[in-house]
Amino acid sequence: MPSDIPNPEELSKASHLGTGLIVRYHEIALKGGNRAMFEKRLDQNLQSALSSFSRVSVRRIRGRMLVQSDTPASRMASAAAKVFGVSSISAAVETEPDLDAIGESARAQVGKILERHYQGRDLVRFRVTSNRADKRFPLSSTEMNGQIGGRILPEFPCLKVSLNDPEVEVEVDLRPEGTWVFSERFRGPGGLPVSSTGRALSLLSGGIDSPVASWLSMKRGMRVDFVSFYSFPHVGPQTRDKIIRQVENLMKWQPRAMLHIVPFAPIQEAIRDFCPATYRTVLYRRAMQRIASKIAKRTKCKVLITGESVGQVASQTLNNLSVIEEASYVPVLRPLITFDKQETIDLAQKIGTFETSNLPAPDCCTVFQPEHPVIYGQIEEAHAAEGPLDLDSLCATAVRETERLHFPERS
Ligand code: ATP
Ligand code: MG
Repeated sequence: MPSDIPNPEELSKASHLGTGLIVRYHEIALKGGNRAMFEKRLDQNLQSALSSFSRVSVRRIRGRMLVQSDTPASRMASAAAKVFGVSSISAAVETEPDLDAIGESARAQVGKILERHYQGRDLVRFRVTSNRADKRFPLSSTEMNGQIGGRILPEFPCLKVSLNDPEVEVEVDLRPEGTWVFSERFRGPGGLPVSSTGRALSLLSGGIDSPVASWLSMKRGMRVDFVSFYSFPHVGPQTRDKIIRQVENLMKWQPRAMLHIVPFAPIQEAIRDFCPATYRTVLYRRAMQRIASKIAKRTKCKVLITGESVGQVASQTLNNLSVIEEASYVPVLRPLITFDKQETIDLAQKIGTFETSNLPAPDCCTVFQPEHPVIYGQIEEAHAAEGPLDLDSLCATAVRETERLHFPERS
């Protein structure tokens, strides 16, 4: 599976282990000259994800961010776990940089972990790991590990030191900016901070695939806007509601977005009335690409995103994919191109879009569906099939009449 989504149950276990959070990031630290920009983005996105909590402060300290708030660390950890770019999160306690204070905090954390997870066990493997980034501290890391361990071990007879395979690991981070004690690391979603790699326009349908494709694009740092083709009255308002709900689901992972809802019925009717039935679906898709790329150009989106995957349906043969893409003025990215359906479903369930995708509401592509769609489409044939249409005018009208919604709503 391409992604590890933190499990909210696991995160809830972080409660009571600290008053703040240490938020770490990997990949963005590798980006050389761009590093400052990436960090700033991550900082902004983190602040935005935590903005509903009271009195949040985010401090950037060499390769990590420290978050303080009045809110319990477990709740903040769940929110931070939806910020792309975050590699791991710990609930942490800030202490004075002296052995007694560190030892006391470490002892309290170990007590809580043993009580929660290891009750009744006579042997629990344990280690202390210190990171002495503040070289003013008189002891070496190894000496510190010994001193802190020595304060904890006598209190809990079940603990046995295991450097290679500990079940409970207390970590101490000693830096010039402060000292932190923590004992669990929870995985973040990884990837790059949203908005750090540019803007993209995702073709969002009511199906399972396109929300997952949108999510994977956000994960690679794109700020994703959405365009959906809506064939009212051939499909009803429940189709529109479903799309809006799906964007709301995706907004848990990205602070802001725009949804363009394009009236598509006149174009589908024209294709039905004037073009060969076998090319209908391919021509719908070509019209979508044309309109979407016009909207992308206007809104400074550099690429289109679709949920297409090779061989999934007749319109996704290699031939038809290229006939469809030929109608776009901007590059088309397809994050799911090699995914099996089950892989997409598994990811949809993890990211929280699957349930909405399963709501009953027809998509515009089912409108006037031909019995025998072309499988090996040809560009010349598609051009000939489109010949009778005044596509420039049809597409211009569709763009002009597009409804635009902002998420979150603008007041
Ligand atoms: P499913 O999960 O059922 O495959 P789907 O949305 O992927 O749903 P496809 O027929 O496979 O349906 O469509 C391929 C791609 O075309 C979608 O992933 C989406 O990006 C785009 N698309 C299809 N219909 C629409 C629509 N009504 N509005 C916007 N994009 C659409
Ligand atoms: Mg699909």
